[in-house]
Order: sequence, then structure tokens, then C-alpha cells
Amino acid sequence: MGKLQGKVAVITGGSTGIGFATAQLFVTEGAHVFITGRRQKELDQAVDAIGTNISGVRGDVTNLADLDRLYETVGMKGRLDIVFANAGLGEFAPLGGITEEHFDTLFNTNVRGALFTVQKALPLLNDGGSIILTGSVAGVKGTPGFGVYGATKAAIRCFVRSWTVELKDRGIRSNVLSPGPIDTPLVGQQPEETIERIVSTIPMGRMGEPGEIAKAALFLASDDSSFITGIELFVDGGRAQI
Ligand code: NAD
Repeated sequence: MGKLQGKVAVITGGSTGIGFATAQLFVTEGAHVFITGRRQKELDQAVDAIGTNISGVRGDVTNLADLDRLYETVGMKGRLDIVFANAGLGEFAPLGGITEEHFDTLFNTNVRGALFTVQKALPLLNDGGSIILTGSVAGVKGTPGFGVYGATKAAIRCFVRSWTVELKDRGIRSNVLSPGPIDTPLVGQQPEETIERIVSTIPMGRMGEPGEIAKAALFLASDDSSFITGIELFVDGGRAQI
């Protein structure tokens, strides 16, 4: 028996990186997973790679009509047990160089997108369900250029404090999973010297792998974390712990 046998999960931003690795693991553990992504081709490739118990629904988390369509599709299958609001963008600009577009893009995707991904899931979400948001060490650490990105991750950490009490009567747990630097397309686009600088700040001396975040997401999604709610779980090789 898998740890998520018979469960239904939604993972946004599931075509690549952390979302894809988590979808793979959740399916291996017995769940049916709906992944979302904006690009049909990448979404189809991810669905083909996982093979069974996986559905792709194209959609942008900043578009509320897309989220409605996502949950209409999920609702046709039945109810929902796990929401992993993972879709996010990393864009970096130092104070003095921050544009309105940089601010709006990051907050619309990382904060507004995560909020409505969860709020619109609530009517379908079973009592006892699990909500997981992807935060970041950037929410608690200062790094040049990361001001707005870090603020988006601090904002979603704040959401789960309130949701923990708002949803307690339904037994729904809300937690933030905060990765340190992970080897995904989001970080891989950075220049070599930026990656070297990032790695030099990690006590374990390496980047993490998407599968290491997936294992922590499985913990928060499953009954293994049955007495855990409202936390921020760092999976960061020690980056934000020193
Ligand atoms: P990634 O780029 O592989 O994954 C992000 C996914 O979100 C992509 O599939 C992207 O297409 C999707 N996405 C972006 N905007 C979207 C939108 N508006 N609607 C729908 N989907 C959208 O990178 P990743 O590292 O796997 O990122 C996943 C999450 O992890 C993000 O929230 C990111 O902020 C967070 N994170 C990543 C790292 C890291 O080092 N990789 C560290 C801390 C936090």
C-alpha cells in the first residue's frame, strides 16, 4: 500500500522541476494527480513521462477562469485530498531597479496565484485534507536582488498561519515547504558564477535535487505528518538554518 493510496492531488506548475518530481512520487505512492502548467507541450510530455494515474490541465494560476476550469475537471473525477500550490516564478531585481512589472508579475503568480489555487479548491477538498505551499529560504534570508521574490514567499508563509485556524474544524492542515537552492530550470537559468556563489552559502555544499523536495512534500501530504500544521518545513541543506 502506498502512502497516498486512493488520494487525489492537484499540483500546480507540475510539468517541470519540483512539481514534476512530486507528481511522480505521489503517483508511485498510489495517488491520482492532476498537474497544471501553462504550456500544453511541456504538460503533455510530463503526463506521458509519468504514464498512469496522471492528468494534465493546461492553465495559468494568475487566471481565475483557468483555475475554475481546473477544478471543474477535478470535480468530474470526484473529490480532492491534497493541494500543492507550487507554481512560482523567480525573477530578481535590486532596490533601485525594481519595475512595476517585476512586482506585479511576482506577486500575481507567487501570492495571488497560490491564494486562489487554494481558495477555489476548498469546496472540493475533503475534510482531513492537506494544503502545501511552496515557499523558499528567500522568505527568511536577505540576498541582493531577492527583495520582491522573498516578500512573495514571506506572504504565503503568512497565509498558512491564518488558514491553520480557519480550517481546523475541517481537519485540513496547511503547511509551507521551503526549499533552498534546488537544481531545477528556475535556478539552472542562472549564470555559472551565480550558481557557484549560491552553493557556497549552503552548509551541505551542494544544491538539492527536486526529488528531495518531493519526499518532504509526501511527508506533508500523507498521514506521516498527521499532527503537523501551520509550519514552515525547510529542505535547504542548512542554508537558512545558520
Ligand atoms: P520550475 O521553473 O521548474 O517550476 C515552476 C513551475 O511553475 C514551472 O512549470 C512553470 O511553468 C510554472 N509556472 C510559473 N508561472 C506559472 C503560472 N502563472 N501559472 C501556472 N504555472 C506557472 O522551478 P521549480 O524550482 O521547480 O519551482 C517550483 C517552486 O519552487 C516555485 O514556487 C519556486 O519559487 C520554488 N522554489 C524553488 C527553488 C529552487 O531553487 N529551484 C528554491 C526555493 C523555492
